[in-house]
Amino acid sequence: YSSAKNSLGGSRSGEPFGKFSSPIMGEPSEEHRQHLSHPAQGPGIRTATSSTCPADEQLKNTDQHLVELVTNEIVSQAPPVDWSDIAGLELAKATIKEEVLWPMLRPDVFSGLTALPRSILFFGPQGTGKMLLGRCIASQLGATFFRLSGSALVTKWLGEGEKIVHTSFLIARCRQPSVIFVSEIDMLLSSQVSEESPVNRIKTELLMQLDSVLTSAEDQIVVICSTSKPEEIDESVRRYFMKRLLIPLPDSTARHQIIIQLLSQHNYCLNDKEVALLVQRTEGFSGLDVTRLCQEAAVGPLHTMQGPDLSAIMPSQLRPVTYPDFENVFCKIQPSISQKELDTYTEWNKMFGCSQ
Ligand code: ADP
Repeated sequence: YSSAKNSLGGSRSGEPFGKFSSPIMGEPSEEHRQHLSHPAQGPGIRTATSSTCPADEQLKNTDQHLVELVTNEIVSQAPPVDWSDIAGLELAKATIKEEVLWPMLRPDVFSGLTALPRSILFFGPQGTGKMLLGRCIASQLGATFFRLSGSALVTKWLGEGEKIVHTSFLIARCRQPSVIFVSEIDMLLSSQVSEESPVNRIKTELLMQLDSVLTSAEDQIVVICSTSKPEEIDESVRRYFMKRLLIPLPDSTARHQIIIQLLSQHNYCLNDKEVALLVQRTEGFSGLDVTRLCQEAAVGPLHTMQGPDLSAIMPSQLRPVTYPDFENVFCKIQPSISQKELDTYTEWNKMFGCSQ
């Protein structure tokens, strides 16, 4: 079991920061490239091209404008994400590996023991890596990643939202294994949505699709929804999520990891004490807040250059990023989550979460 676990990207003991690379600032690692050409496919996973699927027929009769929209804007082309790209979240990662990925990758071994967990809810503060985890699951399964947003469906695409959801699931069936990620799911599944509202049609379509994913024995589709407002989800639809996982703020080790990784892409001069101070001062920051802080501090050397012709500057002419560059941006970037909000997540987790 443990060697199999390692093949999923498993334990990183003994290399606390070595392999971490930021998915937004870094190039895909060699490990990623290898992963792309040899996705982690077990015997239970079909390849995206091998299936002759009835959904193909339905797709031919679907409005081509919708097919193009989903293919171009919903199917993600983002580079794959590895476990080591995600700092911290050890409990969530372990739960996902053991309770989601393994049963998906080896249904022959897990059959009869437990129903395949095809629907997951990630809840917690914004910017803590929920989407990164979704992308990582898709990468580990060698799956097509579909990225829907609750807020885009109810604003930008309100008139077509229901059809976009329908078409996304149709294409997901044709291109399986697939992971469908829906952010801000509270916008669609809120108890506030009235029956007459056009949002209700999107909600009904999504629940129908979820139902069919949950009851289909063959489809290799995982639906992951994320929210920073789990308490707004209608209690009657909570049961649609087989796993409900809290994705918390990064602890000090995770913040250290994010800072060091982002700094390592620049010329920097900070001693261990200064880095420890940064870790301390970012208590309460989300992963996204820490990332923004480092990005802003990294342009500090540019601001202090004499002479206006920035286009002619070579990177080697820039002074290193130093602690005062961080001092200058701390006033601009504050933790975006209050203690009250954090308490709400802890409470909701106690009542409805799958990890304590
Ligand atoms: P969420 O879906 O929880 O709102 P995302 O997964 O979209 O947040 O994260 C936004 C960005 O913040 C990521 O692209 C990454 O740069 C950074 N980030 C957040 N959490 C982490 C983490 N645990 N490890 C590394 N980077 C993170």
